[in-house]
Amino acid sequence: MSQLDRRTVLKAGGAVAAIALTAAPEALAQTTAAPNWNRLSRSLQGGKLFMPSTPGYAAAHQLFNPRWDSVQPAAVVRAAKTADVISTINFARDNKLVLVPKGGGHSYVGASVISKGIQLDVGPLRGMTYAKNGVLTVGAGARLYDVHAFLDKYGRSLPTGTCPTVGVAGLTLGGGMGIHTRAWGLTCDRLVGMSVVTADGKARVINTKSDPDLFWALRGGGGGNLAVVTSFQFATIPGPKLGFFRLTWPEARAAAVVAGWQKFIQKAPSTAWGNLHLNAKSNGTVSVHVLGISTTGNAAAAAAQLESFVGSKASTRSITVKTHMEAVKYLGGGTTSPRTGFLAGSDVLRAPMNASSINALIGAVKSAARAKTPAAAIIDPLGGQAAKQPAGGAAWPWRSALGVIQWYVGTAAHPSSAQLKAAQTFIDHGHGAVRSFSAGGYANYVEARRGVATYYGSSLPRLRAVKKKYDPQGFFRTSYTFG
Ligand SMILES: Cc1cc2nc3c(=O)[nH]c(=O)nc-3n(C[C@H](O)[C@H](O)[C@H](O)COP(=O)(O)OP(=O)(O)OC[C@H]3O[C@@H](n4cnc5c(N)ncnc54)[C@H](O)[C@@H]3O)c2cc1C
Repeated sequence: MSQLDRRTVLKAGGAVAAIALTAAPEALAQTTAAPNWNRLSRSLQGGKLFMPSTPGYAAAHQLFNPRWDSVQPAAVVRAAKTADVISTINFARDNKLVLVPKGGGHSYVGASVISKGIQLDVGPLRGMTYAKNGVLTVGAGARLYDVHAFLDKYGRSLPTGTCPTVGVAGLTLGGGMGIHTRAWGLTCDRLVGMSVVTADGKARVINTKSDPDLFWALRGGGGGNLAVVTSFQFATIPGPKLGFFRLTWPEARAAAVVAGWQKFIQKAPSTAWGNLHLNAKSNGTVSVHVLGISTTGNAAAAAAQLESFVGSKASTRSITVKTHMEAVKYLGGGTTSPRTGFLAGSDVLRAPMNASSINALIGAVKSAARAKTPAAAIIDPLGGQAAKQPAGGAAWPWRSALGVIQWYVGTAAHPSSAQLKAAQTFIDHGHGAVRSFSAGGYANYVEARRGVATYYGSSLPRLRAVKKKYDPQGFFRTSYTFG
């Protein structure tokens, strides 16, 4: 979902009250005899340790969603080098403290902050180099906007998501979907290598030849589960001008648009991509639009093909051409993105929905609109290159799926229990509407109330085996760990 669209959802839903209530992530930390924090601080080589008494601690542990601000780690380590990552992992292990890595801090369930444990922030590791063979080496702390701005200097790009502040780390480790998914595959599919530190404190360079199991598992197996990544190596893609289309239809055409969009995703060339938005509006109605691109630049042809499957012309229609950076800023709503409250979830569509499921999906958005819940169902397409395994394989399990629905509700920074309940009601209605077409969930849109098996499909047994091999003591734990 683009930032542009998240802001639309917030606006469409109207103002929401800001009553403090936080559903903190489960405190997994184990108690231990007073850790010698001075020893950890002294061992850091440029990194910085924040304790609750250190100035800047509150800002240091913040995530993108303010809902997690009240989760208080025992310490935050901002790693400046791989050596800091190694020292911190060894310290946490020796002191039986839970450690969670933080990249861009956009986890849907606050998995990159932990009560009483150590938050290991790789943010300062954000250097980038570009090699003549088209390979980008990027520190795990880099954010998406910075990656695109850097690659633009070389006329190159990378298939990523759209939010400028999302971390390359979390995005890549859980898959990574965006406008290039059909033409070039997921972000994790472009990986050619990673530098990681495993639970034993060992730094490794992994790829299809070296630790191939771990390399496979980290391509879609989700962040925080197996190792701390310190840098990624990606095979970049060209960054030419892109054709954009944005088509809207009246609410009365919603069912035809969903059905037509499903056909479009099955029949259109992989150079065409478009995601479908059903947004609840504060006046109780539903807005319907498809935002799409063509990597050939001919968005008009893609738009016409979509309209022919829908069976009617769009009521408003915009066709534009954008350079690589214009596209990045347009989709990201600028160069950065303010911290935002939200609750979200997902369903992976294994096949096109039938008419009754489509009606139930529209009904879920409609009842959120009537309840003045600022909700949206956004369906991102798969297919094309995303349907193919990259060389060496990837744990990302949804190759044959049609698309991924995100159930998204904008909330206050610190939502009341009533707001969270209303948001969860919409997400539950959404799940119910598409249940018979859902293969599971997308690990990057992880939800608190969903079992781990639903995120990894047929990759789960191998992921468990890799976990056993590289993290036999279960040092790395998230709410969606497959240990
Ligand atoms: C506004 C917004 C827009 C989004 N848009 C898209 C989109 O267009 N496409 C898409 O696919 N997804 C999108 N997402 C989802 C996003 O991909 C995930 O939330 C992702 O996990 C965020 O990564 P992060 O590094 O920012 O988050 P973090 O919270 O830092 O990390 C997420 C998980 O990865 C772990 N992790 C972080 N760094 C490392 C590391 N170096 N090594 C190992 N584990 C690590 C964390 O412990 C945590 O479990 C969006 C999310 C938001 C909030």
